[in-house]
Amino acid sequence: MTSLAKVNNSRIEKSSNPMMCLYGQGVARGYAIGRVVVMGATALEVVHYRISDHAVEAEKNRLSHALKSTQLEMQEMAASLPDDAPRELAALLSVHGMLLSDPLLADQALSLIEEKHYNAEWALTTQGQILGEQFAAMEDEYLRERGSDVRQVIERVLTLLSGSGSSLKLDHEGGHDDPLIVVAHDISPAEMIRLRGARFAGFATDLGGATSHTAIVARSMGVPAVVALGHVRTLVRDGDMVILDGANGTILVNPPEAALQEYRRLQQSYLDERAELALLKDVPSETLDGIPIELYANIELPDEAELALANGAAGIGLFRSEFLFMGRPDLPSEEEQYLAYSTVVKAMQGRPVTIRTLDIGADKTLDGEATVATNPALGLRAIRYCLAHPDLFATQLRAILRASAHGPVRILIPMIAHMHEIVATRAAIASARHELDARGQKYAERIELGAMVEVPAIAIAIEPFAAALDFLSIGTNDLIQYTLAIDRTDNEVSSLYDPLHPAVLRLIANTINAGVRVGIPVSVCGEMAGDSNLTRLLLGLGLTVFSMHPQQLLDVKREIRDAHTNALRNKVANALNRAHPIDPAALYH
Ligand code: PEP
Ligand code: MG
Repeated sequence: MTSLAKVNNSRIEKSSNPMMCLYGQGVARGYAIGRVVVMGATALEVVHYRISDHAVEAEKNRLSHALKSTQLEMQEMAASLPDDAPRELAALLSVHGMLLSDPLLADQALSLIEEKHYNAEWALTTQGQILGEQFAAMEDEYLRERGSDVRQVIERVLTLLSGSGSSLKLDHEGGHDDPLIVVAHDISPAEMIRLRGARFAGFATDLGGATSHTAIVARSMGVPAVVALGHVRTLVRDGDMVILDGANGTILVNPPEAALQEYRRLQQSYLDERAELALLKDVPSETLDGIPIELYANIELPDEAELALANGAAGIGLFRSEFLFMGRPDLPSEEEQYLAYSTVVKAMQGRPVTIRTLDIGADKTLDGEATVATNPALGLRAIRYCLAHPDLFATQLRAILRASAHGPVRILIPMIAHMHEIVATRAAIASARHELDARGQKYAERIELGAMVEVPAIAIAIEPFAAALDFLSIGTNDLIQYTLAIDRTDNEVSSLYDPLHPAVLRLIANTINAGVRVGIPVSVCGEMAGDSNLTRLLLGLGLTVFSMHPQQLLDVKREIRDAHTNALRNKVANALNRAHPIDPAALYH
């Protein structure tokens, strides 16, 4: 099926000159002006269709040609490896070359075209899957690993078949010194992690939404990004000049000189504005009527603690620990985790660090762990996953406890929906303490335990949960998804993903009010907290603790210092009983 529906998701204007403008969703502010580097096709996005009788020979030739060209490419790469390249690299290239000519892959795929009239991509991925499953079932670990070689080789061939040139080339050819803008169908969180090491000026993808983890990682890297562009990856070519506007969600491909000049000016004034905001770093965070508001940072990797401090964060409100677990074939050891957590605790110099236990599942999967659930967002995710994998959970809890010996640590449990999950978590923490006692290792006596409020059930029945915990943190990204029954990663329904829906606001208000009654702090750590257009709304709901990407802290602080909480409370209270979403702009009058 070709995804025509996806084409409609972005408005495409193409003129007779090579310039075009694509509209998507801006998810990380800023401007990027640079050259496109297209990220390769993946097996997941293959188009399936049947070809007619007379097209069979041509289709077989197309596949044979792509297989041959990929093989040649690998031979050339092997021949041009520098002398000091690791020996394994040459061996790997030759394994890949052999796979390409293996009859089990090539001949069988060609037969699928002949017999079933599959298109070349479909035939290749079908046969690849069969081989991958055969490798996965092998006892020998080395042979099992070859399954991923099959996948990599197939992705390479698919890239050639799609005619989009090479997969991602980190060292861009063509002699340009311009910054690079990554264009992809989608970027998985694990791929984003791999991309972190390289320098990119921007990201543009066909798929995605404001709270997809790709968008979150782009924001945390401070790199402008536009998602939900529909077909950007097939419309642009390596080396195209592009202007990416991460606020408006537009991409200008091969723009005229006048547009380049205008955007360079906008880019400079955006950078100037950021420099001006930096002056707010050390001023108090309080409203005009003197209400102190605590501003915390969300981080994904330990080295982002520096960014949190540089933006004046009062502490870490959300350390998404799953990013330590992703993009790798094995699990991080207790020592590795302890090092990561304690690095953050030490870097924050006595400020609290809230470490969220593993929130794997839904769009964040461990390497090699295929999602088999029909509705992964409703499946074995987050605390459910951890309680189902007690060894993994115990390892993480011991590492977190040990980090608490270096400064204030709080444990945050994602996706809580039942009281028994809190009871089981407390029991797991108690047994982790016993194990550390037996080893004679240190940890803080008192560690606060909190829960993410992201399942509507707990937000509705919040009071006893609040009483059983030391703090609450509202994960609006998931709370919106589960309240409105909108997949947060599905761009086909992204227009219905509405943070301003009265039901969402009432759940937030309910949670904040319960916190006040029970006497525990309540924060918002979802993307709403970092959207400065929503700061007044959240203040009006009674929120006094915000946690967001470090890059957004000063924007939000500026809003807070201009707002009058008591006046906002009345205005927002009225909005909660309406059927229609509140207009946040109305809170400025
Ligand atoms: C949330 O759901 O709002 C949240 C902060 O968690 P994540 O985005 O990691 O699911
Ligand atoms: Mg969440």
